[in-house]
Amino acid sequence: MFKNFLRFHTFAQIQIKMRIDILTIFPEMFEGPFSHSIIKRAKEKNVVEIFTHNIRDYSTSKHKSVDDYPFGGDAGMVMMIEPIALCIEKLKSERKYDEVIYMSPDGELLDQKLSNKCSLFNNIIILCGHYKGIDERISEHFITKEISIGDYVLSGGELAAAVFCDSIIRLIPGVLNDETSALSDSFQDNLLSPPVYTRPADFRGWKVPEILLSGNEKLIKEWQMEKAIERTKQRRQGLFNSH
Ligand code: SAH
Repeated sequence: MFKNFLRFHTFAQIQIKMRIDILTIFPEMFEGPFSHSIIKRAKEKNVVEIFTHNIRDYSTSKHKSVDDYPFGGDAGMVMMIEPIALCIEKLKSERKYDEVIYMSPDGELLDQKLSNKCSLFNNIIILCGHYKGIDERISEHFITKEISIGDYVLSGGELAAAVFCDSIIRLIPGVLNDETSALSDSFQDNLLSPPVYTRPADFRGWKVPEILLSGNEKLIKEWQMEKAIERTKQRRQGLFNSH
């Protein structure tokens, strides 16, 4: 399955360049996650461009408010429709977007399959909510996809957006040094990764499995597959059953 995906990826879009526009009230939260390691390298290679937009800049109110009390009198605040609408409309007037995504605990659960799919996009908008969430009319009129990173509630969409971006950016060809290294990651082909080891081969008598030192590529591949299956059965029976 994934091998076909990669083939499609490589041939269908040779000059891939992804643009991600993130709408947030805390742009600084992205400085850390996006300035290190693989995402940093992807940005330097111009494989991906990430822009953060402060929703507050689009507020037309005197105090630059972005949230207000909920109708119906529930506890907590709700993010207002106008600043978000103005920001999305401005971006959409400048280019076409594949999806306008809202990070939301009630969205589609993020998994490797969804990351593979989203890594093919050229332009996406990602909206991060806060407080009690966003005015529902934003979802109805602007959002084309809602994504959750798990069945738990975060304080804001920023960390979720960073997780989502990391998972898709590393799949864009040219981002990882050895492209095939994404192929052997967990969840590709619905299997967890086999265990990995590095030097020293013997640490306090704790030895690396003999076979990995044998130099016999065929046997090593078989061992790795066997371990991947064993681990998936033990830890994630559900994944294994979906084979
Ligand atoms: N009241 C809402 C939770 C709001 S949490 C509810 O009970 O469903 C505030 C913001 O954090 C949300 O608007 C969303 O953008 C983000 N968020 C929280 N949990 C998330 C998750 N599991 N996945 C993605 N985004 C999440």
